[in-house]
Parts: sequence; structure tokens; C-alpha cells
Amino acid sequence: MPRIKRILVTGGAGFLGSHLCERLVADGHDVICLDSFFTSQKSNVSHLLAKPNFELIRHDVTVPIFLEVDEVYNLACPAAPGHYQFNPIKTMKTSVLGVIHVLGMARRCRAKVLQASTSEVYGDPEVHPQVETYRGAVNPIGPRACYDEGKRAAETLIMDYHRLNRVNIRIVRIFNTYGPRMHPYDGRVVSNFIRQALAGEDITIFGDGSQTRSFCYRDDLIEGIIRMMNGPDEFIGPVNLGNPGEFTIRELAELVIELTGSKSKLVYKPLPADDPTRRRPDITLAKQHLGWEPKVKLREGLIETIKYFKSVRLEDFRAPTPNY
Ligand code: NAD
Ligand code: UDP
Repeated sequence: MPRIKRILVTGGAGFLGSHLCERLVADGHDVICLDSFFTSQKSNVSHLLAKPNFELIRHDVTVPIFLEVDEVYNLACPAAPGHYQFNPIKTMKTSVLGVIHVLGMARRCRAKVLQASTSEVYGDPEVHPQVETYRGAVNPIGPRACYDEGKRAAETLIMDYHRLNRVNIRIVRIFNTYGPRMHPYDGRVVSNFIRQALAGEDITIFGDGSQTRSFCYRDDLIEGIIRMMNGPDEFIGPVNLGNPGEFTIRELAELVIELTGSKSKLVYKPLPADDPTRRRPDITLAKQHLGWEPKVKLREGLIETIKYFKSVRLEDFRAPTPNY
């Protein structure tokens, strides 16, 4: 019988956080979900509220909080470009102050901390596929910097708390992940294309659509995160978690049209500043140390995500609340 742990998930009501909470609750752990609901809604976790091993706290991680826990998954941070650029100063504070507060708490109660970092730490990469030793090419003053540099600073802080204060840590660098419970208006490419295709609206390709991304289905990702938290203390990361299947954005649009049977047309819009031209994880380390690799193909994952988008009422979702 595995030990029951008290686990804090910051950003636990979000797309990935809510699935992580669901899995940890099902595994019998005592789960505290903390969220400010900046980019999420309570309905993501309302089905867990009646469980005796689940608690929900509305709190902003830029403000300290003290809880006695064994583990923390630190996911609180807007992740979609439109969401994190909504208030870039707040985004940087969320990453930096958020991780400082989590690490201070973890140091005091000797909790293990897993930091949800990102492939964005590689910026617009000159090394392809991206290996963990690559240091990245981030524009520190561009519109994506609030997120990229915030996450880079969070990696620095978590490593320094580890070296200086012996906090037990893990760092995962998550590559584009999609699936049911993505916010339909988050502006990310998968949610935009599916929403547009289902409504018969034009599908908006930014640039010429030749830029690439590698899309990981949420179940694969959650499995990877949990394996990393529970893996050997000698392997703290950073480790890439993502699906190495690489697609152009145009290929993604064509696949969404095929799977939805939509009559939508492709339209081309200007490419946002600093949009990375290519992205694909090298997952050798995850395979070696965690025995992990993604199983769900893009086509299968998109079918599940399309079913979800068909099942929701778009009027139940709103744009992020101003949050200063
Ligand atoms: P999401 O926006 O659905 O979830 C983020 C959650 O954090 C939301 O519930 C939001 O309300 C909450 N939050 C934001 N600011 C907060 C604050 N100041 N205090 C408390 N809660 C706050 O996004 P997601 O895709 O589920 O991403 C989860 C984590 O994974 C993020 O840290 C993100 O950077 C990381 N990540 C995700 C992806 C991806 O493709 N989904 C890729 C790389 C990294
Ligand atoms: N994109 C697009 N149309 C959209 C939304 C996004 O062509 O409606 C492109 C975007 O320019 C980027 C890629 O799709 O090249 C992935 O964008 P997303 O915002 O999902 O994530 P990113 O990996 O850029 O953080």
C-alpha cells in the first residue's frame, strides 16, 4: 500500500492542474488545490469537491501562504500567450514570487517541490530537437519575456534553494500540451483551431504556417509529471516532457479540418513577435530515468479534445479577469 501524502497543487484548477488533482485524489492522496482562478473556472474541479481527500483554496501565489504538506506541484502561472501577456508584470510576479513562497514553505516543512517549467526557456531555439543542456535563445525584452524569463528565474531559484537549503526538488520542462479542459478562449493554437472549425469560422494561421510545434496529450504529460515527482532523488531534472512528433501549424490546421469535417477556410494573419520557428523535445533523459514516453498520437488526442469542445457551452467561459 503506497504512503498517503498531503499534496499541494498550485494552479490546481487549471487545464493541467485539474487533471493532476483528479489523478492524485484517485490515488488516495490528501490533495489541496490552490488557485486564483485567473485563467480557470471552478467547474474544472467541482466534481472533486465532495471527495473527503480534496480541498480547494482561492489564493494568489504572489502572496505568502503557510501549509503543512509533503509535496508541492507548482503549476500556478498563466500558460497561453494571450493569457500571460494580458498583464505581463503580474505574470513575472506569479512565476518569481510564487516559487519563492512555495520554496520558503517547502524549506520549513521539508516538502518536495516540482516546478512546472516550459519549453519556452529555450526561446526560439538554434538547437533542434531541444536537449536539456541547451541554454536557449530568449529575447529578454520581447512580449514573451514575462513568461519565458519568469520561468527561467523560477528554475534558478529552485536550483538555489536546492543547493543552499537542500530543498528536495524536481524541474520538468513541459512542451505544448493539449486536451479536454483547455480554456476555449485561451488563444492557443489547438483551442483556436478546434473552436473555429466547429463554428465553421475561418481558421487563423499566424505567419505562413511553416513553424512547428510538438503536441503532447494531457494524459501522457500527467503520467510524466507524476513519475518525475516520485522518481529517484538523484534525478532532479530539468527534464523535457513532451511528444517528439513534430508538425507544422498548417498540418495541424488540415488535421483539425479533417477530423471535424469542417468547411472552414484557412486564413493567414501576421506572425506574432518572437514566435518560435520550431520546437521539438529530445526526450532521451525522460526515457532513461523515468521509463516515460508519450503513447497518444496527435490524431487520437485531437479526437478526444474535439469531443470535449463539442460538449461545452462557450457562453460559460469568459476571458481572464483583470487581476492587478
Ligand atoms: P492554465 O492557465 O489552465 O493553468 C494555470 C492555473 O494557474 C490556472 O488555474 C490559473 O488560474 C492559475 N493561476 C495563474 N496565476 C495564479 C496566481 N497568481 N495565483 C494562483 N493561481 C494562479 O494553464 P496550464 O496549461 O494548465 O498550465 C499549467 C502549468 O504548466 C503552468 O505553470 C504552465 O506554465 C505550465 N506549462 C504548460 C504547458 C501547456 O502546453 N499546457 C506548456 C509548458 C508549461
Ligand atoms: N497560432 C496560429 N493560429 C492561432 C494561434 C496560434 O497559427 O490561432 C500559432 C502561433 O503563432 C504559434 C503556434 O501556433 O506559432 C503555437 O501557438 P500557441 O499559442 O498554441 O503556443 P506557443 O507554443 O506559441 O506558446
